[in-house]
Amino acid sequence: MQIFNNPQELQQYVLSQKRKGQLFSLVPTMGFLHKGHISLMHQAKVYANNVIVSIFVNPTQFAPNEDLDKYPRDFEGDEKKCKDAGVDIIFYPSNESIYPADYQTFVNVEKVSQNLCGASRPHHFQGVTTVVAKLFNICLPDYAFFGEKDFQQLTVIKRMTKDLNFPIEIIPVPTFREDDGLAMSSRNKYLKGKEREDALVLYKSIKRVSELFSRGERNVSLLLSEAQKIISSTPLAYIDYIKIVDIETMNDVDFITKDSLFALAVKIGSTRLIDNCKLLLTKGEKDV
Ligand code: AMP
Repeated sequence: MQIFNNPQELQQYVLSQKRKGQLFSLVPTMGFLHKGHISLMHQAKVYANNVIVSIFVNPTQFAPNEDLDKYPRDFEGDEKKCKDAGVDIIFYPSNESIYPADYQTFVNVEKVSQNLCGASRPHHFQGVTTVVAKLFNICLPDYAFFGEKDFQQLTVIKRMTKDLNFPIEIIPVPTFREDDGLAMSSRNKYLKGKEREDALVLYKSIKRVSELFSRGERNVSLLLSEAQKIISSTPLAYIDYIKIVDIETMNDVDFITKDSLFALAVKIGSTRLIDNCKLLLTKGEKDV
């Protein structure tokens, strides 16, 4: 496994290998790797012989009041996990090599980035799309892997890839969960004592909404009020948003007549967690 810190050196290396017909997969991460990340790496290896994992805690996607400085980091542990997962290259750049002092270019996806996390974290997706566009240009992958855990991010990246004609196939990977259902996240490390148990309200509300949906409930207010009941039963849980949106446009819906997404962001103590589940119509309903 090779480690590159310098963007130009990695780009030159990938170019030289691509001239020999090699294919590349890219898994962008912010490190502090867990089994969710590892499942992306395993998928990445299925698609291409060369897997690049980038580890970069991207400052432009954090607002000044957010957890950039305390975001968990463990490069040595990450290096071992990547090696064990069969990763070929780690790209571990410095902030200065990605955003030099005179940096002034940003990528902005307009519509699908507005609702949900885009409403709570106004500059977040611009930071994400900017860094991912740069990673695409530096790593020149044929395939790039993103988790459905961050479903809106996946949607925003797909849109950017299409709109900017990146010759890259975006591959979604299902959410990897702990045995009790909590979606794996580097931020789970912040959960202390009883908070870990309280964090299960996200999964419990997903299960309840999916169950009602599969029994035929299509009324969004009713589905959301059921979810809200579960979340408000936990005094430490503070709802940032709970919504049902059109799975393509990310716009709110009142009644489910198209494939949709139940998405929520909940603060457990001071830790903000997100999760979601797809609400897909049956074939019969779609044909109507
Ligand atoms: P992060 O390091 O949190 O920025 O995540 C890097 C990538 O891993 C993103 O594409 C995430 O969507 C994905 N990811 C994070 N957690 C999970 C999970 N529990 N299951 C699947 N993918 C995940």
